[in-house]
Amino acid sequence: MFTAWRLEQNDQGFHAALTHFEDSDLPEGNVTVAVEYSTLNYKDALALTHRGPVVRRWPMVPGIDGAGTVLDSSHPDWQPGDCWLLNGWGVGETHWGCLSQRARLNGDWLIPLPKGFSSRQAMALGTAGYTAALCVLALERHAAHPAQGEVLVTGASGGVGSVAVALLAKLGWTVTASTGKLQEEAYLRALGASHIIDRNTLSAPGKPLQKERWAAVVDTVGSHTLANACAQTRWGGVVAACGLAGGMDFPTTVAPFILRGVTLAGIDSVMQPRAARCKAWQKLVELIDLQMLERIAHDIPLDQAASAAQDLLDGRVRGRLVVKI
Ligand code: NDP
Repeated sequence: MFTAWRLEQNDQGFHAALTHFEDSDLPEGNVTVAVEYSTLNYKDALALTHRGPVVRRWPMVPGIDGAGTVLDSSHPDWQPGDCWLLNGWGVGETHWGCLSQRARLNGDWLIPLPKGFSSRQAMALGTAGYTAALCVLALERHAAHPAQGEVLVTGASGGVGSVAVALLAKLGWTVTASTGKLQEEAYLRALGASHIIDRNTLSAPGKPLQKERWAAVVDTVGSHTLANACAQTRWGGVVAACGLAGGMDFPTTVAPFILRGVTLAGIDSVMQPRAARCKAWQKLVELIDLQMLERIAHDIPLDQAASAAQDLLDGRVRGRLVVKI
């Protein structure tokens, strides 16, 4: 027997409950794992509350991230006792996920737990931290460099934003953090932000080209915020777009791209090939200060996942939520 969150959608509507399962209930897969820690990402919160169309098969066990040990495997890369880490691949969306004591997964989706992180620390970063690292790698791939000027991080007090601020500051960037939680100024400065701006200054419709300000941007918000960030990016700058916390739309013109040579780099964490995942996690191993990570992360038990998901979507969570299984 094991316990997991079970999401169901039927004639009576949507229902989320902690449920007892048998091992025989687990889906197909060539590696069976014990989950030690999972986490609550924005996407997990949408799934648990049914506020967004994340789940594409019912019933579903949510949880796009997990870390723990292998119990049983017929995959050549994995033996019982190995420490594994999983981010994405549609787990928690189309395949049962990791807000569960057990999971059965495809061994190709797993990577070894990076040396230097415990399973809890890996989940304190989770998809949010790994995505922040993918954003930083995208800026570097497009030759963005701290000597070129300031970097803007939007949704800075959230999971992706917090880790992006910490990584970029560690790399020597002067970081401007855009936030709706101005009361979190001390937290953002402790992560390494040099300047804090109110997110309202970016969220209203703006002109297609504005005063040049940012050498680079990591945007987790989308909509007018992303449009304004592009409009304020300096000639030749790079904008890594990974999120939609403010909206899915992108109301802008081609002006920043064809008149200022701005590069818009799209970031998808879910389908990244294994080599890119390992590179992003290596970046996190090299740059993350583990004491700083403790400022970002808060632990919750498995049974509080659904109420914490409401808090996260209502903007009451700072940083990252780690779920102890
Ligand atoms: P969080 O909920 O932890 O953080 C989102 C932050 O965005 C909030 O803390 C808040 O920060 C800001 N925000 C929330 N609502 C609004 C709003 N209406 N307008 C403007 N800002 C808002 O989520 P994550 O950090 O986990 O994820 C951030 C985004 O990135 C999400 O959209 C998520 O889906 C996406 N994402 C995408 C991935 C990919 O592969 N492309 C992977 C991971 C995440 P503040 O109060 O500081 O402004």
